[in-house]
Amino acid sequence: MAVEQARDRGARRPLPFRPRISAALAYALHAVLAANPVYRWLAAFVERRPRLYRWFTAGERVTKERLFGCRMCGQCALPATGYACPMTCPKQLRNGPCGGVSPDGACEVDRSLRCVWVTAWDRAESAGRGADLDLLQRPVDNRQWSRSSWVNYWQGRDEGIAVAFTGSDPRPAIAVRASR
Ligand code: SF4
Repeated sequence: MAVEQARDRGARRPLPFRPRISAALAYALHAVLAANPVYRWLAAFVERRPRLYRWFTAGERVTKERLFGCRMCGQCALPATGYACPMTCPKQLRNGPCGGVSPDGACEVDRSLRCVWVTAWDRAESAGRGADLDLLQRPVDNRQWSRSSWVNYWQGRDEGIAVAFTGSDPRPAIAVRASR
């Protein structure tokens, strides 16, 4: 696990990635995978068996790398970002773009690429989910790198991963939790 974490966190340079499926399809797939008691049981079953957990995580890695450029941070923000992975931002910003986005939406680090947050905005808006981008994402827990975000989500470890920010009173993001 330590080797995988080092690879996921360091060796693979994050670059803005354009999801390979539409936002509408991604939200529909998420509805199928939404947490319920059966998935929670399945996640616990998988997690108790190290070999099975490795296979399961490998399957998640292949699937999400190809579809979303996933870097396996283990705490998936996709449902709140129009399914554009914020960990593919070269600065790994999880709460919106830096100040360097060009007027045409290009990334400051690589002008040939579109800022992942511009992509997130377009996709969330197109699905009527633009308000999700107002949510405040909590900092990444670096211990979760290379672990299965699906297992973490089904096990309820993502509770409060995004909160609604109203002045000085961040509250649990009920809307996000209910729809993930
Ligand atoms: S698990 Fe983390 S790195 Fe992977 S798609 Fe979700 S936010 Fe991105």
